Amino acid sequence: MPELPEVETIKRGLSPFLINARIKKLILRRKNLRFDFPEDFAEQVSGTKIVNVTRRAKYLLLELSSGKTLLSHLGMTGNYRFFNPEQPDEFEKHDHVVFELTSTNAPAPFLVYSDPRRFGFMDLFENGDDCKFLKHLGPEPLGNQLNASVLADGFAGRRGPVKTVLLDQKVLAGLGNIYVCEALFRAKIHPASSATSLVNAKQQKNDTRLEPLAIHIRQVLEEALDAGGSTLKDYKSVEGETGYFQHSFDVYGREDENCRTPDCAGTIERMVQAGRSSFFCPRCQPL
Ligand SMILES: [Zn+2]
Repeated sequence: MPELPEVETIKRGLSPFLINARIKKLILRRKNLRFDFPEDFAEQVSGTKIVNVTRRAKYLLLELSSGKTLLSHLGMTGNYRFFNPEQPDEFEKHDHVVFELTSTNAPAPFLVYSDPRRFGFMDLFENGDDCKFLKHLGPEPLGNQLNASVLADGFAGRRGPVKTVLLDQKVLAGLGNIYVCEALFRAKIHPASSATSLVNAKQQKNDTRLEPLAIHIRQVLEEALDAGGSTLKDYKSVEGETGYFQHSFDVYGREDENCRTPDCAGTIERMVQAGRSSFFCPRCQPL
């Protein structure tokens, strides 16, 4: 599943080719993805120019000359590629949305959105504050918005496990399962620790774990971004390259393997929290 670093990698791959490109025609090859397309979607997008390509959480955003923004979520298996078909109908079965581009330096005239499992979706909005997918999102975990007080605000009064609270998009936007596991390991916080206990500990004992946690979240995301993201199943960048951050995981997917902390004799364990696997070292991350 593409997480924030993978979506950011795709955004950076698409931006130089799409900014200032005109969408001559938007071709929908089925009537829905995970959700129905917005009403008159093809008509509203066809003929507009792409003014900017941005990202919010795990959403890729194409800002259009019409003043509207096209939102794209990649679900589990969504991906974009440039394509130059030799025959007009040479698209593949899972190529659901095709952007025909003009006056662009793109490598091919068609940008194709393909999504075998169809958990991705698209939307079109005028104002982000009105977009149901964006309006409740918390701060971005990349960049300077994230610090200990942002985490303290998000954790206050939340008795649930810190792992689950960090996945809440209202607390932090776009942080996914892999990178939460890795950041908690680096910060030496057990995934089942109650989120609010970290805030209370900070208030009572001047516990200093929130600031390092904020730093580790940002660092693990930045390292993943530098590695072009993580490729677990079929994620690829726009250029068709796989990311390689998966080789740097300390805990994710490493159940029963030795902890990588020097001098730690611990073994990585897996537990299921809110239906998602958490990986941790019980010695480095005591409860
Ligand atoms: Zn350890």
